[in-house]
Parts: sequence; C-alpha cells; structure tokens
Amino acid sequence: MFDNLSDKLDKAFHILKGHGKITEVNVADTLKEVRRALLDADVNFKIAKDFTARVKDKAIGQDVLTTLQPGQLLVKLVKDELTELMGGDVAGINLSGTPTVILMSGLQGSGKTTFSGKLANYLKTKKGKKPLLVACDIYRPAAINQLHVVGEQVGVEVYSEPENKNPVEIAQNAIKHAKASGLNVVIVDTAGRLAVDQEMMDEIARVHSAIKPQETLFVVDSMTGQDAVNTAKAFNDILNFDGVVLTKLDGDTRGGAALSIKTVVNKPIKFVGTGEKMDALDVFYPVRMAERILGMGDVVSLVERAQEQFNEEEARKLQKKIAKNEFGFDDFLTQIQQVKKMGNMKDLVGMIPGASKAMKDIEIEDDAFKHIEAIIHSMTPGERSKPSIIDVKRKARIAKGSGTKVEQVNQLMKQFDQMSKMMKMMQGPGGKNLMKMMSG
Ligand code: GDP
Repeated sequence: MFDNLSDKLDKAFHILKGHGKITEVNVADTLKEVRRALLDADVNFKIAKDFTARVKDKAIGQDVLTTLQPGQLLVKLVKDELTELMGGDVAGINLSGTPTVILMSGLQGSGKTTFSGKLANYLKTKKGKKPLLVACDIYRPAAINQLHVVGEQVGVEVYSEPENKNPVEIAQNAIKHAKASGLNVVIVDTAGRLAVDQEMMDEIARVHSAIKPQETLFVVDSMTGQDAVNTAKAFNDILNFDGVVLTKLDGDTRGGAALSIKTVVNKPIKFVGTGEKMDALDVFYPVRMAERILGMGDVVSLVERAQEQFNEEEARKLQKKIAKNEFGFDDFLTQIQQVKKMGNMKDLVGMIPGASKAMKDIEIEDDAFKHIEAIIHSMTPGERSKPSIIDVKRKARIAKGSGTKVEQVNQLMKQFDQMSKMMKMMQGPGGKNLMKMMSG
C-alpha cells in the first residue's frame, strides 16, 4: 500500500539526516522532495503545493531549526498535514432509520458489487445488523448474478427483480420487503457505466430521490489516480454523497486518489477495500493511514486485528498444553490459521513500524505459510502430537509428501522447537506477566 510514496518521503527526510546542523536550506530541500513525492503519487499540483506551503508555515511558526530534533518534528508536521489531507477525524457510517438505506454509486468496475457484499458482511458480523442486498442493475443480468454470488458468500439475502426494468421500483419494493421481513439495513447496488454519462446520472438521481438513503456512498477504484477525483466530482454534483469508498488499495496504487478526494469534494473517505475477499474491508482512519505512509506502522490496527481473533478460552487451553509439554504441530497449525485470518502478510508487515522499509526488497508471498501448512499436513497424527518421533526417515517421507525439501522440514522443526522453548519460558514466573500483557 503506497509503497512508492512511502519510499520517496523516506528519501526526502534523509536529506535532514546527513547533516550535523540543519539549515533553512535543508528544510526547503526536504519540502521540495516531499512535494515531488506527492506529485509522483498523482496528487493534484495545487494540492501538493498548498500542502508543502502549510508545512513550511508551521515549521517556521514552531521554529523547527531551534528544536532538539528538527528532523523528527518535520516528520510530525508532515504526518499531521497528511492526516488533515485525508480527512482529519474518522468518519462513521450513519445507521439511523428503519431500515437504514445505503445507496452505492460509482462507475462500472469500481468495485461496487464487491463492496456491497463486504459492507453487508461487516454490518452483519461487526454491528449485529440484518442487511438486505438489492440488485438494481437493469442492464447487465451478469451483475445481478454476481450480487447473488456475493450474497451467498456472506450469508445475506439478495433482492432482485430480473424482469423489472425500473430501478426506482425495484429499490422501493426491496425496502418494503426488508420492512416486512424484519431486515434493518438495505444496501442498494446500482448500475454503473464505463465513464460518466448523462443517462446513468439521471437514473441514479431518480433512485436517490425516491428512496432517500441515509448514506450515499461513492465507490472508486484507487488505481485510477486523477480520474478518480474527476469522477468523484461529477457524482458529488448530482448526488451530494456522504462518503467515499476507495477500493483496490491493496494493489499498486500510487495513492493520489486517497490524498486528493477529500480536498476536492470535501467528503470523507469512510472505507477502503484491500482485496477481493469479503473480509477485505477496512474502516478508514486518516491518522493511521498517514502513519503507515510515513513508515511509522499502524500498531493500533494490528492489535485490533489480533484482538478480533483472540479467544480467551482457546488461549487458556493452549497455556495448559504448553505447561504439560503437549504443544504439537496441530496447535501450531491453528496458530497459523489465526494469524492468516488477521489479513494478508504484506498488509500485516506494513502495520509494523519500520518493517515495510526493512523488508521492502523481500518478496512476501501472499500465502507465506503455504509450505509450512503442506509439511504439517503430510505428518501423521502421531507425528503432529509428538514431534520428537520424527527421525531422518520420517523427514524424508514428509518432504516428499508435501512437495518440499528435507531442509525445509528441518527448518520448520527447528522453528517449532524454538517456539516451544520460548513458550515454555513464558510460562515461568516472569513470563506469566508477559503473557498477560500480550493478551491485553
Ligand atoms: P462493479 O462493476 O462496480 O460492481 O465492480 P465489481 O465489484 O464487479 O469489481 C470489479 C473487479 O474488481 C472485480 O474483479 C473485483 O474482484 C475487483 N475488486 C473489487 N474490490 C477490490 C479490492 O478492494 N481489491 C482488489 N484487488 N480487487 C477488487
């Protein structure tokens, strides 16, 4: 996420690091590089220029040069400004109304249907809501099917009327249906076109005024750069939408959309999409994103994700096993599965302060645990619960069965051994507190 921008900003701050005494010239050079980094990330020229002008004003105002660590203060000023640029405070979603009606808008391919499914899943699992998904694309039967597939994946009912060519009617009927069935959120997915056109705008405006949604969200592909901003403007002029959803932030996006949209349409980014799977949705926190861009990591999100997966009972069981020396490969596999549920590895590494930079040249596989899992799956139940019986012969068999090399099996055995030892140590007098600390 924003790797390029992070990299360039990091280089900009390097200018300050090489000097014993920092001068006004160094600061000016740094800010020039910051501006160049923003422009490269596809941020509009005027926004980038105003950005650095504001940082400069603040730097002068706070007498940066006389402070103990001018470099750090300047990074902080840039962080604050980036946060502001992306909207300042986190913007929640309005869930008033019975039912709450949420309208999706955006171009075809922006990720509306995928996001509708993700949002339904999020509201159902995290907010205890009972959502209904509504297919209002009357032009592409495939779009209706796609929403049905998505609905099935997340276990949410999908309302559609394939024969009806009037999207206003479909949306209104869906709301009636939701009321009658006790569903309390109606998410309306609409038709998009490849580019902004009058007919599409008229149609969504009609749907909008007929169903009066509590939330109108504009969904945009973050890879489209400056175009994203223009499209946002066109939709906002017609719908005066409430918030923006940036999709495909997991890809190789330069980030310009995330950094410019708030300034241009003055509407907050509410969610970001970070993958094709139904749980790849993040609430957008400007300050956390700014910290990630500046390589400061995002420990808060990392801990939140860990906590979501944390199950006290499971942890207690595990502790008992460790104490009794019964921790085996099956438990190891369960641990891996829990980490995997926290998100993809690249994303997680990006949340650890400094780690993205340190690991930027290391290719992280999407499924970094693939080999480990294959190796464990090739072990017999006996081997998994009592790893000490795995001798040279067994290792060769396991390697063959899992399509790996004996060295990889050895490496895993070693890692497992170290981990078991460490866990055992944490059970000791000092370790108890450590465990408590880690589990919050
Ligand atoms: P719609 O035409 O606006 O409904 O767009 P779709 O929901 O059909 O999405 C278009 C394509 O983008 C599909 O292939 C999705 O799987 C993909 N997509 C949607 N959101 C994301 C995302 O956050 N990350 C990635 N990598 N792909 C996404």
